[in-house]
Amino acid sequence: MTRWARKRARNRVAHPPGLLQRLSERIRGREQLLVRPTSGIPLLLVTYPRGREMVARQLESAYTRTLSTLPRELTEPYASVLEALPPIAVVLLRPRNACTCLGHFHPAGTESRLTLRLAGDLGSPVAEIDLAYESIREWDPNPISSLAAGNLGSRLADLRFEAALLSVLLHELHHLAAPEEAEREIREASNNFYAGVVQEFVKRESGQDYGMHGRKGFGL
Ligand SMILES: [Zn+2]
Ligand SMILES: [Zn+2]
Repeated sequence: MTRWARKRARNRVAHPPGLLQRLSERIRGREQLLVRPTSGIPLLLVTYPRGREMVARQLESAYTRTLSTLPRELTEPYASVLEALPPIAVVLLRPRNACTCLGHFHPAGTESRLTLRLAGDLGSPVAEIDLAYESIREWDPNPISSLAAGNLGSRLADLRFEAALLSVLLHELHHLAAPEEAEREIREASNNFYAGVVQEFVKRESGQDYGMHGRKGFGL
């Protein structure tokens, strides 16, 4: 083995998972977006890697606009969840989590310094979750047949992403609002929500209805 090959071999094992991502976030910094829904649901303080404002804006649009236009039977299960939360929730957006989960809720005492400081400054509890937006974008629990997708083309990927972003957001907030509820129930609710939202989007865009089959979960 040459000196360089030895060096390369050493370098290959040198990076714990997620280290480079955390390092580049650290170097580039993070930015914040305050998401203000008009209804009485919690404000979101979205923190995202610098240069990724578009994802934060997509989350804002899903939470402040889309959510209020969905049929009541889809949003009804989350009314009590959103009511039970503190008035503000911090959402840490990351491309991916080292553990590959789509998101996590952060129980009291495990929040980031940002959230703890904010809670201290406001004198109010602040909830915190994280969402891994690139993993959420790739998440595909209910593949849609090409027939059902009609001629939505690349628009379908955007619609799926918005539905998935909202579903994982609500899934993690559900954990915080109802800590005694089992993962199985919380996942069932968010899977149903996701399936219903995609169905609704496709119906709106293409005037078609279709059934969805098969369920997979979130990871956490
Ligand atoms: Zn995880
Ligand atoms: Zn969960």
